[in-house]
Amino acid sequence: SVKTTGKRNYRFYDQKFYDALMASLRQESELRHAIDHDQFVLHYQPRVDISTGVTSSMEALVRWAHPLRGLVEPSEFIPIAEDTGLILPLGELIIDKVCAQLAFWARSGQELVPVSVNVSPRQFSEANMATVIRSAIERNGLEPSLIEIELTESSMLTDTDELTETIAAIRGMGVKLLVDDFGTGYSSLSQLQRLDVDVLKVDRAFTAELGKTEQGKVFFTAIVTMAHALGMRVVAEGVESEAQLRILKSLRCDEIQGYFVSRPLPPTDTQPILPKWFLPSAL
Ligand code: C2E
Ligand code: MG
Ligand code: MG
Ligand code: MG
Repeated sequence: SVKTTGKRNYRFYDQKFYDALMASLRQESELRHAIDHDQFVLHYQPRVDISTGVTSSMEALVRWAHPLRGLVEPSEFIPIAEDTGLILPLGELIIDKVCAQLAFWARSGQELVPVSVNVSPRQFSEANMATVIRSAIERNGLEPSLIEIELTESSMLTDTDELTETIAAIRGMGVKLLVDDFGTGYSSLSQLQRLDVDVLKVDRAFTAELGKTEQGKVFFTAIVTMAHALGMRVVAEGVESEAQLRILKSLRCDEIQGYFVSRPLPPTDTQPILPKWFLPSAL
């Protein structure tokens, strides 16, 4: 009867819900175990000044060195970490790793450039980010200007007093603030100016349009004009070709990041591109 079918469907749904719940609990406990056993590594991708070829910074990008699965991409576990709150201990671990790496490079007499760290919105609202950053910097005996923070434009949507205060505290230490994935969110000019943002990192979707449509150029031209008027620098993310670099240079974009310069690299491989990358000579 209709009633029986309905009941079966309900049970079927219930089983699927139960399986999904179990899977997510398993993922959570696996991730917790990975944090406790320090199964994370950071790769570093340079950001290069277009006019000089100098590497101005490197972005730290986390990977999970999984004992069975190998290096797992952040898109597979950062969302779980965010949902479960594990992003708080993981985020602290990452900031600490970055600072320890910088201290190691300094001790071994290698080239030092600042490192930018991605921070999730939840870290900003629930952890005392300014304290977390300050203590990691002090514990490792670093200059605060060696650390930069990347906050996605969409995470600035909830424009609370708390966000403003935390950012002010971080900026007050001498730590730079970058807006990540710019162009995909809805930040206002007044917000960017009030928060004292240093750098706009334009999302790679816009870079991908360069050379394909006029739209891409129009977008970058508008961003660069606005950013420069407000004293901010502009970085194009996801630059994969010399053609894109040429267009970006003609549009007065300040810096590039992307596979055309380098893929993210393990820390042992970063030295050759520091301090200067070989800009294509024809530029
Ligand atoms: P994101 O911060 O926008 O980082 C840039 C992403 O683009 C990285 O992916 C990088 O490997 C990739 N990429 C760089 N150049 C190119 C290019 O030329 N072409 C293409 N197609 N891709 C390029 P990845 O490492 O998989 O990281 C993805 C996202 O995961 C990051 O986006 C960031 O939002 C998040 N993430 C990474 N590390 C961390 C972290 O330590 N903490 C937090 N909270 N999030 C992180
Ligand atoms: Mg980033
Ligand atoms: Mg980005
Ligand atoms: Mg992204």
